[in-house]
Amino acid sequence: MNAILGYISRHMLPLFLLLAASVFAVFCLGLYLREKKRARQTEGTVSGERAFYQAFAVHEQEFFLLIQKSDLRILYISPNFQAITGMDDALVRSDLETLKKLVTPKTARHIVRQLKEWDGAQELKMEFDYQAAGREAFSHGCASIQIDESGAYYLAVFRDITEDHETRVAMQAELAQAYQESQAKTDFLSKMSHEIRTPMNGILGMLSLAKVHVEDPQQTGYYLDRAESLSQFLLTLINDILDMSRIESGKMELEKAAFDLFEVAEKLDSMFRSTTEAKNLQWDVQMQDFDVRRVVGDELRMTQVIINFISNAVKFTPPGGAVTVTFRQMHKIDGNLHLMIRVRDTGKGIKSDFISRIFRPFEQEDASTAHHYGGSGLGMAIADNIVRLMGGEIIVESEEGKGTEFVVYINMPIAEGDQSVPASWKDARPADEAGDRKKAIEDFTLEGLHILLAEDNDINAEIAIEIMEMEGAVLERACDGLEAVRMFQESPENGYDAILMDIQMPNMTGWEAAAEIRKLDRSDADIPIFAMSANAFVEDKRHSVEVGMNGHISKPVDYDEVRQRLGEALLR
Ligand code: ADP
Repeated sequence: MNAILGYISRHMLPLFLLLAASVFAVFCLGLYLREKKRARQTEGTVSGERAFYQAFAVHEQEFFLLIQKSDLRILYISPNFQAITGMDDALVRSDLETLKKLVTPKTARHIVRQLKEWDGAQELKMEFDYQAAGREAFSHGCASIQIDESGAYYLAVFRDITEDHETRVAMQAELAQAYQESQAKTDFLSKMSHEIRTPMNGILGMLSLAKVHVEDPQQTGYYLDRAESLSQFLLTLINDILDMSRIESGKMELEKAAFDLFEVAEKLDSMFRSTTEAKNLQWDVQMQDFDVRRVVGDELRMTQVIINFISNAVKFTPPGGAVTVTFRQMHKIDGNLHLMIRVRDTGKGIKSDFISRIFRPFEQEDASTAHHYGGSGLGMAIADNIVRLMGGEIIVESEEGKGTEFVVYINMPIAEGDQSVPASWKDARPADEAGDRKKAIEDFTLEGLHILLAEDNDINAEIAIEIMEMEGAVLERACDGLEAVRMFQESPENGYDAILMDIQMPNMTGWEAAAEIRKLDRSDADIPIFAMSANAFVEDKRHSVEVGMNGHISKPVDYDEVRQRLGEALLR
């Protein structure tokens, strides 16, 4: 037995001890691993919470606070807080009230009131201005507060929405402006309808009176004269309204062509000479400091603006007064002429409170203006828009009872070519030869002319034929462009003296017909062709010339203009 025990103690004890040590080591390792696992789990929870919190505040313009409901202790402030507010979060942790510094006292009171009224059932949302870090102006933020499921915490999330807010404010402003514009359009339409109906009513009334008094030529003549002047007024009004609506829809195009400022002054001078004389007004047009005379721009539109100022000056200045127009070269810079055009009168003047409204459509100083002086109040609005399109500006100065001056400042490129300026601008008037031609054109009549008239509308054709044949012309009518081309082709060479061509016609337009005629292989394919059309915009006139016509006469047709244009073309 002893031998057995001895054997065991000699051989097995170390084995046993080894076994026991191994078991202990495994146990310890187990303990260690369990602790380590637990430690890892704990760590995971903590960093998971942080990630969870931060997930709320991933947006750089956002931060949030976790507040213990029982004592309003701040348990967590997300890292963006300091970046957004510029406020030390330790300070806020120690005193929640510090947050009030971010807003005005009024906003703070408002927020506190909302918090007091809040029952906590729903999320509370607020928007307010606050002082963000590094910004001078107040920024805009929104906050939402809710109570967590346990009911123990407030979670307050704040986000800076300045950009969204500004976009929203800008959009609201745009919406308001669009609404205002649409309102203005409605007002414009109803005013326009009223303005058109008034002279229309007059015209129809005068025509019925003329019919009633047909036996009395003097009375009939009087009513027809009134109907005619009302029609002229209506035409001006419609042209103004069209101009205005094209301006408003951004469709007004300006011509860019070389023209002579001295010729413009000359035209204006002769245009208003007899009117001012008849009204006993002193009238003068002056050209000052010019060493160039040709510029590039829209002569027609520029003249339209000046004519409007002069017409008003003449209209609002009583007999014995004076109207002076001055063109002055101010500077020449980089190939541009800086020009001043001033229309000055010694008339009734404009009330200072009206000056700020003078460029609005349909505005007149008071209700009696239209009654005493006529007009629609559109001229100034159009003038202002045209000058602005030209990149210039208009300055108005006026004193009640003393007079008014409108000054236009515009820059226009100086045209290439002859810039010889006359010593006295009145020398710029046509020399004898040119004067003779002008006289010949003035005296030109339609007597003996053979004219091809392309017109699809029966009434228009009847009027044109009757008026021109009364002057001794012979007219042949084509009812569309195709027929006009055929009639011209079938006529002997030089059988017609001129062609008057409506534009909008069935089968072939006047433009197409003119282009066809220009292509014909005949010696008279260059016959004078004038568009005579209700298409009256600048681009229509331009297109008529582009297709090879000699010019464009707008409807309603002014037969003096027809006579003059035919004279210009035929007296070559
Ligand atoms: P209209 O002449 O058709 O009334 P405008 O738009 O050209 O329309 O002018 C608007 C208003 O401005 C006129 O009705 C008038 O009250 C005032 N006004 C313009 N020019 C003058 C001026 N030279 N003297 C006095 N009032 C003027």
